[in-house]
Amino acid sequence: MNKLVLASGNRGKLDEISRLLEPLQIEVVSMQALNVSEPEETGLTFVENAILKARHTAQVTGLPALADDSGLEVDALQGQPGIYSARYAGISCSDSDNNAKLLQALDGQENRSARYYCALALMEHGDDPTPLICTASLNGEIALSPKGTGGFGYDPLFYIPEQRCHAAELNKEKKNKISHRALALQKLLNELRN
Ligand code: IMP
Repeated sequence: MNKLVLASGNRGKLDEISRLLEPLQIEVVSMQALNVSEPEETGLTFVENAILKARHTAQVTGLPALADDSGLEVDALQGQPGIYSARYAGISCSDSDNNAKLLQALDGQENRSARYYCALALMEHGDDPTPLICTASLNGEIALSPKGTGGFGYDPLFYIPEQRCHAAELNKEKKNKISHRALALQKLLNELRN
């Protein structure tokens, strides 16, 4: 494989993944560059949604495609917001709406354990029956109040015990090194090397 399409509209992800796959001489092309629309995420798990996005992109472009799906899983909420992380407080809600809803849902709750989860799916072609799946997570706790100005999404509320700070207090380089996405990508890289 010397070229793949990234099934994501996120510029940051494109840069990060391109950089990681450079040593393997795999060129990463964005889905926008090839005019691929985003499919509806109708799966019920991160893995299903990642496969769905990769399959759609591979089918439309005829090229291998890589997709990711990620979100926050909170133990006391039976894994919610999960695959609905981006739209937890409603379809066109903001990150702060989502954070407010999360704090409310955990009001009075002692068990604050949570994790960010990322699933990656690589399909060599649209009908690939054996997609390469790599998953990873980053453990943390939902704090009682937000802290930090970096990151995005739930980062102001996501306390990482190992780093002794909220995810939004980490600089970009550090976050990109320890994140669920970075860990899943590292696994994918190892698989591709093998
Ligand atoms: P996506 O897979 O990048 O679309 O992320 C889905 C949603 O999960 C985001 O909109 C965020 O709400 C949440 N999320 C995923 N990764 C992170 C993260 O690293 N920090 C904070 N929120 C995240």
